[in-house]
Amino acid sequence: MTLWVGTSWKMTKTLAEARTWATGLRDHLDGWAPEGVQPFVIPSFTATTTVREVLGEDSPVLLGVQNAHWEDAGAWTGEVSVAQAADAGAQIVESGHSERREHFGETVETTRLKVAAALRHGLTPLLCIGESLEVKDAGGSADFILEQAAGALEGLDVEQLAQVVIAYEPIWAIGEHGRPATVAELVEPFAALGEAYTERVAGLLYGGSVNLDNAADLLGIDHVTGLFVGRTAWELPGYLELLRIAEAHAAA
Ligand code: PEP
Repeated sequence: MTLWVGTSWKMTKTLAEARTWATGLRDHLDGWAPEGVQPFVIPSFTATTTVREVLGEDSPVLLGVQNAHWEDAGAWTGEVSVAQAADAGAQIVESGHSERREHFGETVETTRLKVAAALRHGLTPLLCIGESLEVKDAGGSADFILEQAAGALEGLDVEQLAQVVIAYEPIWAIGEHGRPATVAELVEPFAALGEAYTERVAGLLYGGSVNLDNAADLLGIDHVTGLFVGRTAWELPGYLELLRIAEAHAAA
């Protein structure tokens, strides 16, 4: 089993900062390939080509974009297509992050179109799902995320589904206003996701306030096959430590 460990930089980092982070990662991975771990990084669009150039074409680190439109080209001002993302060196297309659902109108239908577009171009769809605190408090977490996932993955055949990575990121656990989820809170949602998707998708990741103290425990939850990380990985030492934790977990 491969453990996916990646970071989205959200709307952070200048090109110089992106270059420094990527150069440091490239140099570390020159002498150390974390066994059993698939690293990935998802910068802002502006840094896609810079990170690709620094990492090189054959890097073990997969490169992604945080969003991409489902059409290949056209009158979609402000948007970037999957074809353009691939042209810039991306291999992963994230969709459905709760910030995009909340602020930019991302819906189950648009995530479905974006997942399909990524697959059409041979890129890995990284589908984010997650429930609000209200839904969690009402006891509806598992049903809610299963519905989000099923809607976005509707119509995929077995081979297509096997390319998809799902990241479960409860909204209440994400970002500086989130609070870290406990292992106990995640067991039931991952049991539900595991029943539906284990061995059918490429990865079932957890994201939301992952840090160096909770990463090993989170990787120990049944059906979790990776971590999708924000703040803790934005400084390279944090990301490298997460790779080490995952490598140790993969070897155990
Ligand atoms: C996120 O926003 O997707 C995320 C995982 O962020 P953080 O790790 O900073 O909570």
